[in-house]
Amino acid sequence: MNTYAKAECHSCHIRLPKNEMHSEEITYNSGHSGISFSFGGKCPRMNTGRQYYRNKTIWYCKDCSDNTPKKIFYLILLDSFIKETKNDET
Ligand SMILES: [Zn+2]
Repeated sequence: MNTYAKAECHSCHIRLPKNEMHSEEITYNSGHSGISFSFGGKCPRMNTGRQYYRNKTIWYCKDCSDNTPKKIFYLILLDSFIKETKNDET
């Protein structure tokens, strides 16, 4: 079998073999107070709070990589922030 495992683009959800995609490993804080956000070593890091760190690998296709790589991370950051805010309120 010469097939590669496929991954889904985090932005447009197209599924392609992983060898045709880019990956980024991000670290985010899944706790309930604050967020942590870093990736790659070539882009900014944000750290607020200090608990429940998790690693996550996301994939995105070349089109999205060329066009909106930063947007993808901001969406993740925003999503994380919203969830944590809700947790704080309950
Ligand atoms: Zn894509």
